[in-house]
Amino acid sequence: NGFTRLGLAPELIQAVEDLGFTQPTPVQEQAIPLAMDGAEGGEAARFIDLMVSSQTGSGKTAAFLLPVLHTLIAQQAERAAQEEAEQQRLADEAAARGEAPQRRKRRNPTDPRNFKAATPGALVLCPTRELAQQVAHDAIDLVRHCKGLRIASVVGGMPYQLQIARLQNADLVVATPGRLLDLQRSQQLKLDQVRFLVVDEADRMLDLGFADDLAEINQLTIERHQTMMFSATFAARIQQLAARVMRQPQRVQI
Ligand code: AMP
Repeated sequence: NGFTRLGLAPELIQAVEDLGFTQPTPVQEQAIPLAMDGAEGGEAARFIDLMVSSQTGSGKTAAFLLPVLHTLIAQQAERAAQEEAEQQRLADEAAARGEAPQRRKRRNPTDPRNFKAATPGALVLCPTRELAQQVAHDAIDLVRHCKGLRIASVVGGMPYQLQIARLQNADLVVATPGRLLDLQRSQQLKLDQVRFLVVDEADRMLDLGFADDLAEINQLTIERHQTMMFSATFAARIQQLAARVMRQPQRVQI
């Protein structure tokens, strides 16, 4: 499989095989290694912002989802290892005191009284509800072999309580800007853990008047994050938007 040499996690390679993808498309071939380059090095990573010209049908969705999911998988493995080490430490301490190890109480995550603000590590912004739902659907297809990675979509029109329930423990949020900012302002969602920000169909974002919302969302994420902007064209107005949300982006032109 042509995806193997891109260095993606085996769970993701398995998923693209299930979907019948045998070779990366040109936009995937170019964007995935650049995006992963920024992500691999942990704290010392060079965060490369990317500006990618891409048409619908080019495979652009997987071009941003795969590197983002790859990094979320790595982070999740790291967190799981830390949690296990912590559990072991507590068990060892209890044993040293001659006590039986304590079992941690599990809270029922579907009980609204236990809801807490979501703190996703990655955010994909889409201009329309339909596109956001399509992207979330593609993401769910790609994480089918990843245990415990959670995808949520945040779009206008969905009942608020249902949306908050779905957001619980989300790792990747796919959203339209308006509803996202509503949830952020009502503190159901915190963006200060977002290390990957994807702006899909930036040209349509501008057409729909989302430029200020994008700039605001960009300000709310971690200072050192990676932004990837996808657009059908690099017209001057797109470049102006890019200058508001990215630092010296690398261009990928297909
Ligand atoms: P997009 O440009 O993201 O809208 O993708 C267009 C379509 O191409 C989607 O239906 C994808 O499932 C499909 N696709 C994406 N990447 C590949 C690939 N590497 N090989 C075959 N099909 C793909």
